[in-house]
Amino acid sequence: MPERFDAVVVGAGLAGLYMLHRLRGMGLSVRVYEAGSDVGGTWYWNRYPGARCDVESLAYSYSFSDELQQQWEWTDRYPPQPEILRYINHVADRFDLRRDIRFERRVESARFNEAECLWEVRSDKGDHARAPFCIMATGCLSTPFEPDLPGLEDFAGGVYRTNLWPHENVRFEGRRVGIFGTGSTGIQAIPVIAREAAHLTVFQRTANYSIPAVNGPLDPAFVRAFKARYAEHREHQRLGLSMGAGDLEAAARDMKPMLPTAEKVTQAEVNRVCEAYWSRGGAHFMGAIGDVMSNEASNRRVADFVRTRIRAIVRDPETAETLCPTTHPIGTKRICVDTDYYATYNRPNVSLINLRKTPVESIEPQGVRLANRLVELDDLVLATGFDAMTGALLRMDIRGSHGRKLSQAWRDGPRTYLGLMVPGFPNLFTVTGPGSPSVLSNMVVSIEQHVEFIAGILEHMRERGYQSIRANPQAEADWTAEVAKRANATLYSKGGSWYLGANVEGKPRMFMPYVGGVGAYRSTCESVAANGYRGFNFRRDAPAATHAGASGS
Ligand code: NAP
Repeated sequence: MPERFDAVVVGAGLAGLYMLHRLRGMGLSVRVYEAGSDVGGTWYWNRYPGARCDVESLAYSYSFSDELQQQWEWTDRYPPQPEILRYINHVADRFDLRRDIRFERRVESARFNEAECLWEVRSDKGDHARAPFCIMATGCLSTPFEPDLPGLEDFAGGVYRTNLWPHENVRFEGRRVGIFGTGSTGIQAIPVIAREAAHLTVFQRTANYSIPAVNGPLDPAFVRAFKARYAEHREHQRLGLSMGAGDLEAAARDMKPMLPTAEKVTQAEVNRVCEAYWSRGGAHFMGAIGDVMSNEASNRRVADFVRTRIRAIVRDPETAETLCPTTHPIGTKRICVDTDYYATYNRPNVSLINLRKTPVESIEPQGVRLANRLVELDDLVLATGFDAMTGALLRMDIRGSHGRKLSQAWRDGPRTYLGLMVPGFPNLFTVTGPGSPSVLSNMVVSIEQHVEFIAGILEHMRERGYQSIRANPQAEADWTAEVAKRANATLYSKGGSWYLGANVEGKPRMFMPYVGGVGAYRSTCESVAANGYRGFNFRRDAPAATHAGASGS
């Protein structure tokens, strides 16, 4: 027997939990389905050694409850995964969220029942919920990407995927470990595994730019002063050009890019400015030069600075050269933030294989077969990334009006209105979907904004007696063009990154996140709302009935 709710939410990570809290606050009945056995989303699955957020603790947290943000105590400048997971669990308990969540349920299908204006949501465990609204809080980086490594299933040792890391403690003492993947995840895991393993071999396909985190315990006096002005800091995150993250001390002092461009000054001047940001640490480094993401000459100079730093840290010149990124402009693949990454290659128990020179032929039971030799291994770690942004949505069978599949609507890439809705899929929302700032921003800031916007829509509909909302196809087309225009004005499209779907063979190449900044995006949403939710069409009757709907409110 199907169960009936006002809304179904898929996912119990930071987005799903806050969505549940907001909807419940409106008096709605909500059912949340979560594939994991507990809350946490990305922070539940990604338990690999060294996992840590590269947005600062005091920013990477909910702002919706002042009591919560005042009372919760973070230990480090950048929060480690176990601490974030504790925080999320605390939120779930504090707001009594678990009672509406069904764990270990993977949603397999969501189909719109036109006649009754309901979503029919089914899980792999046989659950069947019916609700007028369905909200996908499925995360942007939640579908692991399985690399093409022939023979992997024959490997005799342990195979550990960073994004499906076992809950029990994995020990690498005395073991020869190999790792694939040198993105944000690999760069965090490599130094930690290297300290434990007998030997670590890093199989690098693409060298990445990484900035030292300069992590450390938070100074209690800094935290006190920060919390005293939390509201101002949150406002800065919401409206700032810094994508809602950044260096909090700098944000506190409203630090602007120190040079508008690197093009017309000496490299020495560029180095001086970059050095100041490098020594402060973190992804805010990308704010040192104003036009780094739009001017190739500026970008090259910043990249040159990073390569100089890599050569200064890594003692073996050949290893240093292999680690120097040359395949893409800095920032066009997600900038990495590390603790001791480059210095790890000075350890005698770490070796680096350049897969562009010696590709993998196959994985054999004893290790990795390269063109010129076999690297014998006891364990393999795969830090090979995600089918980002669309993966989690497309692996469900989502069907909107007239049974149209989402996979069909997105055959040429994800097209949305504001990253929130897709035409033809009434009453279905995506939290931080493609076409919104999402992965280019502090995710918690973007999640809160989307959850509050969706809650506002539902309130608007309730007040006016509307039953359905649909994104207008023209609004979707205009927004998709705007997202592309913004991206094309930057260097992002030159990165060949997962932002573009480039890491997954056969995935349409389309720059998915909105690069215009969280402030500009928020203003757009506010103006849409102020104009009766421009670009959305509302109806009072069930959509299968004849006409009579109010349009655009
Ligand atoms: P990623 O950035 O997509 O990196 C995947 C890595 O695996 C790349 O180095 C890729 O090489 C390599 N790879 C894939 N298939 C391979 C193959 N067959 N052979 C050899 N190498 C292969 O994934 P990620 O590191 O998990 O990070 C994804 C995103 O998650 C990040 O960009 C970030 O947004 C987020 N994240 C954030 C944090 C944080 O807050 N600190 C931490 C981890 C992740 P190519 O580049 O050549 O494809």
